[in-house]
Amino acid sequence: MPKTMRAARFHQHGGREVLRLEQVPLPQPGAGEVRIRVQACALNWLDVGIRRGPKFGAVPLPLTTGVDTCGLIDALGAGVSGWQIGDAVTLYSLVTCGICEFCRAGEVTVCPRHEIIGEHRDGGLADYMLAPARNLIAKPASLSAVETAALPVVSKTAWHMLITVARLQAGETVFIPGAGGGVASMGIQIAKHAGATVIASSSSAEKMAKARALGADHVVNYQEADWVEQVLAATGGRGVDVAQDLVGAATWADSLRTLARNGRMVVCGSHSGTHFDLSIPQMYHRQLSILGANGGSYNELCRVLDLAGKGVLRPVIDRVLPLSQISEGHRILEEHDHFGKVVIKIA
Ligand SMILES: [Zn+2]
Repeated sequence: MPKTMRAARFHQHGGREVLRLEQVPLPQPGAGEVRIRVQACALNWLDVGIRRGPKFGAVPLPLTTGVDTCGLIDALGAGVSGWQIGDAVTLYSLVTCGICEFCRAGEVTVCPRHEIIGEHRDGGLADYMLAPARNLIAKPASLSAVETAALPVVSKTAWHMLITVARLQAGETVFIPGAGGGVASMGIQIAKHAGATVIASSSSAEKMAKARALGADHVVNYQEADWVEQVLAATGGRGVDVAQDLVGAATWADSLRTLARNGRMVVCGSHSGTHFDLSIPQMYHRQLSILGANGGSYNELCRVLDLAGKGVLRPVIDRVLPLSQISEGHRILEEHDHFGKVVIKIA
């Protein structure tokens, strides 16, 4: 075994210039952990946000991010059973306390003492990483490592938002903005699988065509001033039953305008701003609901990976880069220069 490995990490928060590809000691698995030879790791907005500076509490520095990993188990820590060296795995990224009232109720996404692999401990943007054995999930046999790495965060988040929290039903209409985003591109597919009518938005003819190819029934261009009217027109003026919002303060007003009476806006993400001036009367006059959703559970991830393995959901990959181009990967996300996932291929 090598004694060192490559890791893409940063020692302080800041712009893309703080990202470094460094040689670091090979990590050794502790009790209950495995070491994974990473094959692929997808980027998420989380990687950019944590690099710039954490919004929700400090993170350890230096830090290797990377939440969506696929690889081969290459060492077992003490007490690990049920997994073998060589097994192809992906990860559930939330490490929960297991003993609070929420964990005991199975609502792990609101565990107050949770940690995220790739945020509070080193993640997969390295040749090797450590993970608790209880967070492992077998890679779907029909998918490659790159395809599998493109799935976990965005697919479990979209499922948790639309199916678990917003309770999207067959026959309902859903608005999914920014179709090129990872959660949106999975949300379109999940909503169609649930039997809903999907109205998506995007910013160019090329991305709008890709959204239609994923199954969107109507696609509007949000660069056009009257795009909300176009969404309403696509529903015969009624509005949508569910609107998904991942952007935050900049889009909440428009997302709420797309809703039908009794509509639900389901939210996860606030990178455009964290505070919003809300008209309270519209909430009760039109009987609207705002629903917060956080992440997704291990079981929800198993569900979406199973559907992906069967070809019902397909990973949406914009491009694949080597680890040496981690900074370029961050640029693509920051400039929204993508449709679907940017995946770093490591081995
Ligand atoms: Zn807990």
